[in-house]
Amino acid sequence: MSDDDPGHMDPEAFLVAGRRALEWVAAYRAGVERHPVLSRAAPGELRDALPAEAPERGEAFETILEDLERLILPGITHWQSPGFFAYFPSNASEPSVLGELLSAGLGVQGMLWATSPACTELEAHVLDWLVGLLGLPAGFRSDGAGGGVIQDSASSAALCALVAARERATGGESNRRGCGGRLVAYASSQAHSSIEKAVRIAGLGSDNLRRIEVDERFAMRPEALRARLEADRAAGRVPCFVCATAGTTSSGAFDPIEPIAAVCRELGAWLHVDGAWAGAAAICPELRAPFAGLEGADSYCFNPHKWLLTNFDCTAFWVADRRALTAALSISPEYLRNRASDTGRVTDYRDWQVPLGRRFRALKLWLVLRHYGAERLRAMIRSHVALAAELAGWIGADPRFELAAPVSLGLVCFRHRGGDAVNQELMERLNAGGTAYLTHTRLENRLTLRFSIGQYRTRRGHVTAAWERVRAIAEDVAPA
Ligand code: PLP
Repeated sequence: MSDDDPGHMDPEAFLVAGRRALEWVAAYRAGVERHPVLSRAAPGELRDALPAEAPERGEAFETILEDLERLILPGITHWQSPGFFAYFPSNASEPSVLGELLSAGLGVQGMLWATSPACTELEAHVLDWLVGLLGLPAGFRSDGAGGGVIQDSASSAALCALVAARERATGGESNRRGCGGRLVAYASSQAHSSIEKAVRIAGLGSDNLRRIEVDERFAMRPEALRARLEADRAAGRVPCFVCATAGTTSSGAFDPIEPIAAVCRELGAWLHVDGAWAGAAAICPELRAPFAGLEGADSYCFNPHKWLLTNFDCTAFWVADRRALTAALSISPEYLRNRASDTGRVTDYRDWQVPLGRRFRALKLWLVLRHYGAERLRAMIRSHVALAAELAGWIGADPRFELAAPVSLGLVCFRHRGGDAVNQELMERLNAGGTAYLTHTRLENRLTLRFSIGQYRTRRGHVTAAWERVRAIAEDVAPA
């Protein structure tokens, strides 16, 4: 290799390798059901198979692809398998994969409007589109005081919302002098762990996160929230942030946003609504009722990287007052200054997130929305919701099983009546079988199985097959 030949792929070689890569992905997807959904790899298996040192000499793309197949694939859990019923889905539809490829091909870093105007403007535009598609409050649109931004995760969105809330509550003092232990945050006992993580990172401290009681449907009790806020106020603390969840992770419960927003308004706390998983359902007008009250939220997020067919990572995050966010996060060193930013007429998304740099994620979302159109996205969501209702009917009809929570959209929480050990074994044996994968939670301190229907290739046959497997294993694990 000479100085003027550093070994970069020339356009022809890139095309040949690129075709092979795309063929590999297409073949993988066509045959995804041949693999056990949950990887059977043992801890350390891959590392033991990899060379101890990085290669000194470059290797052929074909050789690397062979190793992908031979070494990497056994360590993959197949989130794109239609038998994936674990956690929540992480759909990576083909148009989104192509969007990701185009984004990587452009290789843009969109920290400032000036570093690629299209990266910023497409993002703002597509998030405005989503406001309309999901029936969100017009106040989240970028042509008013609000605006949307793509974050890497709902966790980051919650953190940014909390930092904005912290700054609003302290008039900018906490950025300068730290928190001082008086600020308090609130979320239901069912809120995602990312809220506690945000509270830790933002410096409030876990002890200053109040876990509010839930009702029998696992939704936050607004009157309990009010009582805690008032008590904290009376004790000289500053209630600054409330997170309501639209679709909790454990059971899919919806906290009642309207009364929670009323409490926040009255007592001056920032309301963030976490719709990470369920948010995609609002594309169907008939599924919007549980989102009522979002007009009262200061911020809202949901993950197109879960149920809206856009590959990880892609969290849509909106604020009603973008200045509250940028006031908390903006720092302007000389080396980032430029004419466009100085005019104040452009959006610099670096001020809306934790990192400085950012990928061109809007491209994949744009491809998804354009390829499918709202109509086909709605049809997919409706089919999953209908399958979940059907599954719940089968569970209800089998006396050995019970529903553990009201069915929420595509999520069915259930358990065998035989107790925790039976459910644990049932789940492990189902997952070891390889055709389906589901995970668990605890509800009312009892082990609960979560059957989460949302993988975009899942059809009725996959659900019936998995349910029949559950029944057959139950026969074995806990004979009548
Ligand atoms: N919030 C809820 C309700 C979730 O269900 C999840 C993940 O499943 C998260 C937040 C965290 O999402 P992310 O991985 O985007 O941070």
